[in-house]
Amino acid sequence: MALGKGATRKIEGLYRELHGRLRGEVLRDVPLSGYTTFRIGGPADLLVVPKGQEELFLLSQAILDHGCDFLVLGRGSNVLVSDAGFRGVVVLTPPGLKRARIKDEGKVNIESGCELNRLILWCMEHGLAGLEELSGIPGSIGGAVRMNAGAHGRTIGDIVEEVKVLRLEGEEIRERTLSAREACFAYRRARGIGNRDIIYEVKLNLYIDDKDRIRERRDGFLSWRKERQPLGRPSAGSVFLNPPGMSAGEIIERCGLKGTRVGDAMVSPKHANFIVNLGKASADDVLRLVELIKREVLRKEGVELEEEIDLIGFGRG
Ligand SMILES: Cc1cc2nc3c(=O)[nH]c(=O)nc-3n(C[C@H](O)[C@H](O)[C@H](O)COP(=O)(O)OP(=O)(O)OC[C@H]3O[C@@H](n4cnc5c(N)ncnc54)[C@H](O)[C@@H]3O)c2cc1C
Repeated sequence: MALGKGATRKIEGLYRELHGRLRGEVLRDVPLSGYTTFRIGGPADLLVVPKGQEELFLLSQAILDHGCDFLVLGRGSNVLVSDAGFRGVVVLTPPGLKRARIKDEGKVNIESGCELNRLILWCMEHGLAGLEELSGIPGSIGGAVRMNAGAHGRTIGDIVEEVKVLRLEGEEIRERTLSAREACFAYRRARGIGNRDIIYEVKLNLYIDDKDRIRERRDGFLSWRKERQPLGRPSAGSVFLNPPGMSAGEIIERCGLKGTRVGDAMVSPKHANFIVNLGKASADDVLRLVELIKREVLRKEGVELEEEIDLIGFGRG
C-alpha cells in the first residue's frame, strides 16, 4: 500500500519539523514487528518516541498541524498490525513516559508508557496493593486503560480514579481529565476514550498492605498464568472476547481447533484462545486463521466470535 503524494508530503513535513528537535527517537519506515508481542507488522511511515509529557504535547500539536494520521502504541500486546503496516505516525509511549509518583495515601499518578508489570513491582516495594490480579499482563498503563485489561475478576477500570488524555481534534490539542465514569469502562474497552485520544497519565486508587502478602498474591497469579498460557511464543494474548457467560477458549477447543495452522500461525495447543507465531507468521496468516476459527465456531456451535485484539492497517476500521 503506497502513500499518496499529499500524505508523503505531510509525513516529510512532520519528520523535518521533529527530527533533531526531540530528545526521543524520530524514525522513518520502521517495521512494527519490532514493537508488537506477536512480532508481526509491516512498516510505519514514522515512529516517534516522545521523552516526557512536554515532547508528547509538542508532537501531538505537530501531528495536528501537519494533518497526519496517527496511532498510539504501548507494548503492542493487544494488536495485529497488517503486513502493509501503518500509513501515518506511530506514537510510542514506552519508554519515554514512565514516571510514577505517590500522591496522597494509596493514590498513584503514573505515566501511560510505564509497563504494568513494572508498576506492580514498584507498588509492591512501596506496600501498595490492588493491582496483583493483573500480574503478567504484558501491556503498558495506557494500553491497559484503553482496553480495560483484567484478569481474575479484576479490571484496571476498578481502580482508576482519573485518566488524563490529549484529544487531537480540530486545530488545537485539548487536555482533558476524565473521571472513571467518563472513561466509561466496559468489558475490554474504555468506551469514553476514542481513537483520537492519547492517554498520558493515569491516577490509580490503591490500598496499603503488607509487602510480603502483596508478593505472595502476585506470585500466585503469575504461576497461574505460566501453567495455562503459552508464554514462550509470540502472541497477543486472547484473540477473541468471551461471549456472554461463555469462554471463547473452551468453545474453540470443543471445535477441535487446537493446533490448527495457517502458515506459521497456530492455535495454541495450551490455550485455544491464543494464536501463537511459530516464527515467520505473517499478519495475513493470523487473519486467515482468525477467519477460519470464526467460521468453524459458527458452524459447529452457532456462536459468533468477535476479536478482542485490535486490527491495525487492514483498512476495515
Ligand atoms: C501473553 C499475553 C497475555 C495477556 N493477558 C491478558 C489478560 O489476562 N487480560 C487482558 O485484559 N489482556 C491480556 N493481554 C492483552 C494485552 O496485554 C492487554 O490488552 C494490554 O493492556 C495492552 O496494553 P499495550 O500497551 O500492549 O497496548 P497496545 O497493544 O499497544 O494497544 C492496544 C490498544 O490501546 C491503544 N493504546 C495504547 N496505548 C495508548 C495510550 N497511551 N493512549 C490511547 N490509546 C492507547 C492502542 O492504540 C490500541 O488500540 C495479554 C497479552 C499477551 C501477549
